[in-house]
Amino acid sequence: MKEFWSKRAKALTPYVPGEQPRERKFIKLNTNENPYPPSQTAVAAIREAAGESLRLYPDPECTSLREALAATFDLKPGQVFVGNGSDEVLALCFQAFFDAERAILFPDITYSFYPVFADLFGLSYREVPLDECFGLPLEPFLGNNGGVVIANPNAPTGRAVSLCDIRTLLEGNPQSVVVVDEAYVDFGAQSAVPLIDSYPNLVVVQTMSKSRALAGLRVGFALGNENLIAALNSVKNSFNSYTLDRLALAGAEGALRDRDYLRAITMKISSTRDWAADRLKRMGFAVSDSAANFLFVSHPAVEAKALLDGLRERGILVRWWDKPRIRDYLRITVGTDEEMEALCQALAQLVPEV
Ligand SMILES: *Cc1c(COP(=O)(O)O)cnc(C)c1O
Repeated sequence: MKEFWSKRAKALTPYVPGEQPRERKFIKLNTNENPYPPSQTAVAAIREAAGESLRLYPDPECTSLREALAATFDLKPGQVFVGNGSDEVLALCFQAFFDAERAILFPDITYSFYPVFADLFGLSYREVPLDECFGLPLEPFLGNNGGVVIANPNAPTGRAVSLCDIRTLLEGNPQSVVVVDEAYVDFGAQSAVPLIDSYPNLVVVQTMSKSRALAGLRVGFALGNENLIAALNSVKNSFNSYTLDRLALAGAEGALRDRDYLRAITMKISSTRDWAADRLKRMGFAVSDSAANFLFVSHPAVEAKALLDGLRERGILVRWWDKPRIRDYLRITVGTDEEMEALCQALAQLVPEV
């Protein structure tokens, strides 16, 4: 094994995405996908783009989509960068803003792609422990670091930080870039986008995968001042000029036009989340406050791994990590009301009655 692999390839421990089952029909609550279809406007735009013009390369600058994003967020097109999913945008951020010499900081419990990117690009990093309740301590993130990366709301805990705390992080790190990964912001957290004009060290990353139900289209974007966006373009154009294809560009623009639909499905998911959280609490689960489209839960009487397996036997997939502080927790994506009802009924068979 690994014959002919480069030293770098040999040393990697890749990110492991949640399962995408091919055979059986599962209730899929394991990868934070949206249970609702994407906007019809988006689908129609993709159909429209699926024609003769695919012969031609797409616009390497993604001008039209960047203009639409700028209008949506009240920014200039030069403050917008787009990429093939926010995973790619985040990877480019790690290369554009961080150096090997000074350690970048992120929480010990967060999106597990951050350490993978850091290792891939040979960056040093330090994982700052969240507090007992998975809250973000500000002090350790202030000053003397090579950069800060946080997810807000955080994954997999669902906990959000206030704009005030983000300001503190920005002001405490005038020499380094603070990346705020807002993959789940549309489900109930405050976005840092309004701070962009005040802080030259802020980059906000968002995605169309979760709130806009377009995980299959692969569109993510970064928002920040022109200087930071230029660094992202410089790295991108040293790697792949055409990261977004014509269908993705068209679909993303279509999705942006349908603001009412975004509002409708995110509000629906938030209300499903809130009743499901109440139900689980009444079954004895500890449920952390979630501003995202998932719940992070544990039960005092049954191990999370046993719940994971029991749910799987009952046709329901959720996510579990065999990691020190979160071994007792499951992350459950918020599905439709019917799916969450099925989840609650399955869990009722697996935990002792209260
Ligand atoms: C899902 C997720 C992403 C990646 O989203 P894509 O745009 O689909 O690549 C990024 N950050 C966090 C925290 C996520 O949960």
